[in-house]
Amino acid sequence: MQDGELTDQIHDDLARAGLAPGEHVVDAAYVTAAKIERAQRVHQITLLGPVAPDPSHQTKAGNGFDKASFTVDWDAHQVVCPRGQTSRTWQPLRISGHDYIQVRFGEAACQACTDRAQCTNSAVRPRSLALLPTRDLHEIQQANRLDQQTHDWQDRYAIRASIEATLSQNVRTCGLRRTRYRGLRRTHVQHVLTALACNVTRIADWIASPTRKQRAPSHFHAL
Ligand code: SF4
Repeated sequence: MQDGELTDQIHDDLARAGLAPGEHVVDAAYVTAAKIERAQRVHQITLLGPVAPDPSHQTKAGNGFDKASFTVDWDAHQVVCPRGQTSRTWQPLRISGHDYIQVRFGEAACQACTDRAQCTNSAVRPRSLALLPTRDLHEIQQANRLDQQTHDWQDRYAIRASIEATLSQNVRTCGLRRTRYRGLRRTHVQHVLTALACNVTRIADWIASPTRKQRAPSHFHAL
């Protein structure tokens, strides 16, 4: 099972046990617009994590016309570009097993456009966009990409930093990445014992250093 697929499974299991959280803070491997939408719709969980940035060369260029520069009219199935041109086609598209909407602009308009260099690398083809397949998913993706650049969002997400230090400690000291046993039930016992060992180690550290008010922050946390 891929990391991303685990998110739904974890939420379903927690809900079945009556332990669904109001907010679940995860790293980028566990979050997509679809996961955020499902977590909220099915379990009323706010899934907090960075969605992947727009990978287009227009985004990387800094001043290019990325997806966020276009206005999508989901009812009319049309997109308006930063120079006011309306798209010509709106079609379903499948890439690597995932559904998208492919939008294309008119060839003549794009070839005559004075801002073409900011919009497309192609010398002849008009600009096209691949949107997520529904309005909800597209809006979640765009809103999260903006949100995750704000200090407020980053302050909320900072709570996750300490778990990285905990995972790292358990990987290094208890070999958490490898199971020592065959079978899920025995592996689960290993995980529980590892968590207990981690807690005992930390309590022992704390007792040995009674004057220390707080653990020194990890490098990741400090960053
Ligand atoms: S190249 Fe085409 S889509 Fe891009 S800004 Fe110009 S007219 Fe609009």
